[in-house]
Amino acid sequence: MALEAVTVVVRCRPMNVREKALRCKAVVSIESTRGLCFLQNPAAASEPPKQFTFDGAYCQEHSTEQIYNEIVYPLVEGVTEGYNGTIFAYGQTGSGKSFTMQGVVEPSAQKGIIPRAFEHIFESVQCAENAKFLVRASYLEIYNEDVRDLLGADTKQKLELKELPEKGVYVKGLSLHTVHSVVQCEQLMETGCSNRAVGYTLMNKDSSRSHAIFTVNMEICTVDERGLDHLRAAKLNLVDLAGSERQSKTGAMGERLKEAIKINLSLSALGNVISALVDGKCKHVPYRDSKLTRLLQDSLGGNTKTLMVACLSPADNNYDESLSTLRYANRAK
Ligand code: ADP
Repeated sequence: MALEAVTVVVRCRPMNVREKALRCKAVVSIESTRGLCFLQNPAAASEPPKQFTFDGAYCQEHSTEQIYNEIVYPLVEGVTEGYNGTIFAYGQTGSGKSFTMQGVVEPSAQKGIIPRAFEHIFESVQCAENAKFLVRASYLEIYNEDVRDLLGADTKQKLELKELPEKGVYVKGLSLHTVHSVVQCEQLMETGCSNRAVGYTLMNKDSSRSHAIFTVNMEICTVDERGLDHLRAAKLNLVDLAGSERQSKTGAMGERLKEAIKINLSLSALGNVISALVDGKCKHVPYRDSKLTRLLQDSLGGNTKTLMVACLSPADNNYDESLSTLRYANRAK
């Protein structure tokens, strides 16, 4: 499948134990062959379901392996050829973002997009005949509009965003780690995740309230017939977004409310940037509205392929959140 600049797919997870115990009804249905997702309003059973069309639609019968092969593969292949790529999962907490991005070990078909992307990249590196690669990784977190290096010497230090004409937007002082293998990437990811966890217990929050970006930077050096070197650079951003649930419902107050407002701000800024890019006619792309979009500025639009996986719960008690996720995803097409 040829990739557009922005590709949007939906994935609906199976009903979980809690939803089954509550005797929830399924209100989401998927017609995968046509990329359709239907959502039935449980309060208006006589109305026809709302219909949404995406570049792909997946349900509990589909594995991450299938999503990778159909949708993610060309994006990561592009990165190994010098094009930037950004992948993120969007949805309320508990909708399957981590399941999709990180995945599980068993069954192996449900291994996540992130470990698959690592394997894909190092396979390309090992198979390349006339190219040399330098692969470096960084991992940062945005919490309350503060940026921290999850792999830095001091993971609590707030880092500044800077901009240089030749370099674009970058995080001053962000550590870069050379990686030679999938295992090394996975180790960095693990270290970074545990540093997120340290922050949470200190600040009494959980991982669903911050955004994290793991970036694989590739420098590709090829030698042409005349023996001349050509250097290209590309990055793959693997973005773990905060949960999209509306915080008004959670009754957040004080610090929690401030935090919630910032999460919603950056998610809506991301939505606005993507929809401005997709629209194409829009001259002003509002990158500057949040740290998340400023940081991803050179990785959204331009020669970048962006993939959003919108994650859904099938249950009727999540109808409002599912509708808001589908509307968000729909704007990004
Ligand atoms: P999020 O990251 O959006 O908060 P999770 O990925 O942690 O949500 O998913 C919540 C729960 O649902 C987890 O126990 C996860 O294993 C399960 N789950 C999510 N998606 C699927 C799926 N497609 N198939 C089976 N289980 C899933």
